[in-house]
Amino acid sequence: YAAKNARAGVRVYQAEDDRNTPRRLALMADLRAAVEQNRLEVHYQPKVDPASGRVIGAEALSRWFRADGTVPPDEFILLAERSGLIRTLTRNVLDTALAACAGWRRDGHHDMTVAVNLSPQTIADRGLAEDVRVALLRHGLPAAALTLEITETGLMADPTNSLATLETLRGIGVKLSVDDFGTGHSSLGRLSELPIQEVKIDKGFVRDLTTTAGRRAVTDATLHLGRALDLLVVAEGVETREEFDYLRAHGCGAVQGYYVSRPLPAAAFTAWLADRPARSYLAA
Ligand code: C2E
Ligand code: MG
Ligand code: MG
Ligand code: MG
Repeated sequence: YAAKNARAGVRVYQAEDDRNTPRRLALMADLRAAVEQNRLEVHYQPKVDPASGRVIGAEALSRWFRADGTVPPDEFILLAERSGLIRTLTRNVLDTALAACAGWRRDGHHDMTVAVNLSPQTIADRGLAEDVRVALLRHGLPAAALTLEITETGLMADPTNSLATLETLRGIGVKLSVDDFGTGHSSLGRLSELPIQEVKIDKGFVRDLTTTAGRRAVTDATLHLGRALDLLVVAEGVETREEFDYLRAHGCGAVQGYYVSRPLPAAAFTAWLADRPARSYLAA
């Protein structure tokens, strides 16, 4: 039903995925119950400044564990978007992630931030900004503790509507990040008009960074763009020492990937944060 790309673990959706097959209808009913009972889990993956080794934040990633196995986020997020569950799912993730971030700060990681992914539909939803404001208040966090990640494709899907919400969110003080950068079609001009503070280089360009000139060009261009527009550039999917070193040497502001840590369940992430000496993965 979903073809697997040659690249490990990347799912590619085909036209036939749009049909409501029996498997999809069953999954949807299950997902509705899981979302409404807040049974999805949130895992956390650190974002690290490669120059200092400091952990600057974590990305919250939803996980759905079912009795007969896990469903990948790319699949259930799409289902949630199509079945009207995405607003509740997003609210739950926001609440869980902000509670976790407040906990890290109480544990002495005073500058920790957390990033939550937003679907394009959620951005078009005028209630989002209010949900965010109330959630920050509930957890006693400053708006700067929260980053919202929106894919480049999602941003460009409904530019007028999303701009209004982005400006309201920016007014609250949350940081806005363009996810999967390099895979969409935003022009430089368009990007410079958005109230964003961060771009995340898609892991497709980080892969083979140190061996493939074409891919390196996209990363280099994004690093330049970041400097020109005063944006934090985050590289996602950093898996090797070589990629990490290249990004550090070229002034990338933050890296995220298996090289530093896989996404971890909340308790394991808290333990990782407590144990990890700031510079440990810089040595080796
Ligand atoms: P994303 O926001 O671009 O998240 C990064 C993805 O890369 C995550 O996949 C993460 O597990 C994976 N990743 C991190 N480091 C590495 C690495 O070194 N190598 C490789 N190969 N992969 C790495 P994941 O968790 O499967 O999530 C996939 C996508 O699902 C996310 O991509 C995001 O777009 C979406 N998603 C996940 N949770 C949520 C959520 O709560 N809400 C929304 N709207 N979307 C979500
Ligand atoms: Mg993301
Ligand atoms: Mg991404
Ligand atoms: Mg992605």
